[in-house]
Amino acid sequence: MENKKELRTWLDNMKLAHPLVIAGPCSAETEEQVLKIAHQLKDTDATVLRAGIWKPRTRPGNFEGVGALGLKWMQRAKEETGMLLTTEVANANHVEHALKHDIDILWIGARTTVSPFIVQEIADALKGTDKPVLIKNPVNPDLSLWLGAVERFHSADVKNLGVIHRGFSTYEKTRYRNNPEWQIAIDLQNRFPDLPLILDPSHIAGRRDIIFDLCQTALDLNYDGLMVETHYDPDNAWSDAKQQIKPEVLDQMTVDLKIREEESEAVEFQNKLSTARTKIDVIDHQLIEMLGKRMKISDDIGRLKKANNVAVLQTKRWNEILGKMILQGEDQNLSEEFILKVFKAIHQESINHQEIVYKK
Ligand code: PEP
Ligand code: MN
Repeated sequence: MENKKELRTWLDNMKLAHPLVIAGPCSAETEEQVLKIAHQLKDTDATVLRAGIWKPRTRPGNFEGVGALGLKWMQRAKEETGMLLTTEVANANHVEHALKHDIDILWIGARTTVSPFIVQEIADALKGTDKPVLIKNPVNPDLSLWLGAVERFHSADVKNLGVIHRGFSTYEKTRYRNNPEWQIAIDLQNRFPDLPLILDPSHIAGRRDIIFDLCQTALDLNYDGLMVETHYDPDNAWSDAKQQIKPEVLDQMTVDLKIREEESEAVEFQNKLSTARTKIDVIDHQLIEMLGKRMKISDDIGRLKKANNVAVLQTKRWNEILGKMILQGEDQNLSEEFILKVFKAIHQESINHQEIVYKK
């Protein structure tokens, strides 16, 4: 991936606006639905129409897509509105159909990115074409798997690449359907600054009310685009009903989102500062979440100690923790003094938590 610049240019070559807005339903349902939504979107900032034709569902028994038939409906939508088209491909056969129907951009779904064999099969099927491909992050939080997929396409000579951040599944219940784990996307962006990075807030959120905030965070982190599931009747959508928004909501959202422009040096400074601050906000948020999780475990230990009539303070264990953390801190360039302060405060909070458990 020596020639990073070339990965970027297809967005410019296709004269796609910054940020690129991709919108459309989770799934193509009927010809009327695809045409209706395309006409509603054509006067918004969305320049690319998305619709899933083959739907990977985690569990069987849900709507699995209309299949290749839907590609004709999409083509018609393009003829009538001028919007570009994108759909998900999950095997070589899908690629063949999509190429035949002149789909402009292909995307690789999160459940496909996890499988090197299938990624290779799709990359081979695209060899020698200049079709842009957007690779969603794998379902599990593994940066190398995501990068591996990018590398497989790149090695197959598919050079017009980009990535879509759609969040990562967790066993724990969080406010998100898929945890954003912004840090993983930021790491990828740091390694490949010219690889277009697009946010899919819909699959991260799993609900409508936090889509805007997710998009704003992404723009503050200098993402290149957004892919937002949009339906004129979200509640009755055949898939992902809870997370789709209406075209008019998307339209208002793109007005309200603050998009930073790169003009003067002062603006560039402000942009860099604000990007760095957003990164810090993301990490601070993670710190609080981690501390919260740590205290919940402390509560469990408190209950255990109480049941077994063991004292809250265990000096030996505490000194072991401190020793380990000081050593780990050194590796991260953190002073012993700082580590002592932080861990004493954490320890005190743990003791307070356990004392509350004891008193109950
Ligand atoms: C989709 O975009 O509708 C979809 C199935 O996405 P993901 O692969 O991110 O789950
Ligand atoms: Mn969906």
